[in-house]
Amino acid sequence: MAALPRPLQDLAADSIQQLHDAVARHEKVCYASSLGAESVVLTDLIWTHVQQIEIFTIDTGRLYPQTHDLIDRLQRRYGRSIKIYYPDACGVESWVARHGVNGFRDGPQQRHGCCAARKLEPFRRGIEGFAAWVTGIRAAQSPNRALAHALEWDATHGLHKLSPLLAWSEEDVWRYIHAMGLPYHALHDAGYPSIGCAPCTRAVPPGADPRSGRWWWEDEASRECGLHPRRAQSGRDTRV
Ligand code: SF4
Repeated sequence: MAALPRPLQDLAADSIQQLHDAVARHEKVCYASSLGAESVVLTDLIWTHVQQIEIFTIDTGRLYPQTHDLIDRLQRRYGRSIKIYYPDACGVESWVARHGVNGFRDGPQQRHGCCAARKLEPFRRGIEGFAAWVTGIRAAQSPNRALAHALEWDATHGLHKLSPLLAWSEEDVWRYIHAMGLPYHALHDAGYPSIGCAPCTRAVPPGADPRSGRWWWEDEASRECGLHPRRAQSGRDTRV
C-alpha cells in the first residue's frame, strides 16, 4: 500500500480492519463479487490481507465475455480461485419457457423474476453456511445505497452484511486500482461504470448517474437486483 497517497492508505486500512473484524466476529465470511471496479479493490484487499474470506461470483448465463476474462486475470494474478455459482438450469429453463428469452424487458415483475432465477437462487447457495457476507456497495452509488450501514443485519438472507467500501468515492476506487496496477473490467473504459448482465447494462454519458446504465427502461425506484433490496428505514446491525 506504499504506492497509495496517505488518505487512500487510511481508507484502505479502515476497510481491511472492517474485514478483519468481521472474520474475528463471525468466522465464516464470504464475499459476493460483482466483478465491477469496487470488486477488484475488494478482491485485492481480501486476497492480500484477509485471505480467510471466500470469494464467489455468479455466472447468470448472460454475462459479457469481458467479465469471464476478468475472472481469469484476477485468478492468475493472485493464484487463487473465485468460486463460480451457476443458476439452477431447470429454474432458468422454466422461467424462459414462461416469459421468453428476453422476457425481463416486459416489466419490473418479469425482470425481478429473471434476477430471482439467474442471480438470487445461486446467491442463496453461495452464502449457505456463512455467518456474514461482504458487498462492494458504496453510499454514493444511489439514494438507496446512501441509506446503507457498513454493518447490517440482512434479514432477507438471514446473515450479517458488511460493506467496507461504503465511504469510498468513485475517485478513491479508481485511484486505488491505478496505483496498485489492478486488472479491471474492460468495459469500464468504454463508458460502463456499473456492469451486470449484458442485456441489462449499457454505457452512459460522462458524468451521468453511474447506475443509470442498469435496467434503464425501469423507474429508478426498482433498479436493484434483489441482493440489495430497497430500504425504507435503518437496517443497522444491532446484533453485534
Ligand atoms: S440482470 Fe437482466 S438478464 Fe441478468 S438476471 Fe437480471 S433481468 Fe436477467
